Amino acid sequence: MLEIRDLIHRYRPGEPPVLTLDDFRVDPGEQVVVTGKSGSGKSTLLHLSAGLMEPSRGGIRVDGVELRTLRAARRDRFRGRRIGMVFQTFHLLHGFSAKENILAALMFSDMPAAAHEKRADQLLGVLGIQRPNARVDTLSIGQQQRVAVARAVACSPALVLADEPTASLDPELARAALDLLQGACRSCGSALVCVTHDRSIVDRFDRHVDLASAAGSGGEHGDA
Ligand code: ADP
Ligand code: MG
Repeated sequence: MLEIRDLIHRYRPGEPPVLTLDDFRVDPGEQVVVTGKSGSGKSTLLHLSAGLMEPSRGGIRVDGVELRTLRAARRDRFRGRRIGMVFQTFHLLHGFSAKENILAALMFSDMPAAAHEKRADQLLGVLGIQRPNARVDTLSIGQQQRVAVARAVACSPALVLADEPTASLDPELARAALDLLQGACRSCGSALVCVTHDRSIVDRFDRHVDLASAAGSGGEHGDA
C-alpha cells in the first residue's frame, strides 16, 4: 500500500539528510507505528508519503502509484481520494461544522455527490460526533479528534497517515483516540502509518519501525 525505496531527503542541498530509508513497506490494511525522537524525520516521512513534497532521492509508491509521476493537480486529487491525514493539531476547517468538514473531504471521493450526505451522516454516527452542525472550533478536543478521524477515513482511503495523533491529549483521551483511529481504519480497510515519539503505544500496532534503526541499514524490528 505504501512502498518506499532508497529514500534520501534533505531540505537544503549540501546538508546531511534529515531522513534516510532504504526499504519501508506497508501492506494493505496493515497498521504500522513509526517511532523516533523529535527531529528524527517523522513528519518529513509523512509529508513525503502524502506527496506534499518530493524526496531528494528515491521512490514512493502509494496504492501502486509512483507519486513522482503525478503532476501537481493530479497528485492533489490522488491524495484527496486515496490518502487520509490526521494531524497533531487536527487542521480542521474552522468556522465550519463537523459535517461540513466531512463533506469537504468527500468532494474528492469517487462517490456520486448525491451519496455524500448519507456517508457524512453515517460517519458522524459511527464516530459518535454529538453536535454535527456546531462549528468545530466550539467542540471539545476529544470531539475535534473524532471529526479529524472521520474526515481522514471519509473517502475510505488506501492509506491513513497520522502525525502524533495523541500528543495533545491526556492518557485517557489518547487511548480513546487510538481506539477510534485504528477502528475506523479497520472498518474502512485502510492501512495506517502512525508516527509518534510515544513508545508506550507501540504494542497496539501490527508492526513497529524505529527510525533510528531503520535509517540507512533498512533494519526494521518486529517487536509488535
Ligand atoms: P520530527 O517530526 O521527527 O520531529 P521533522 O520531520 O519535523 O522531525 O524534522 C526533521 C528535521 O528536518 C529536523 O532537523 C527539522 O529541523 C528539519 N526540517 C523539518 N522541516 C523543515 C523545513 N520545512 N525546512 C528545513 N528543515 C526542516
Ligand atoms: Mg513531527
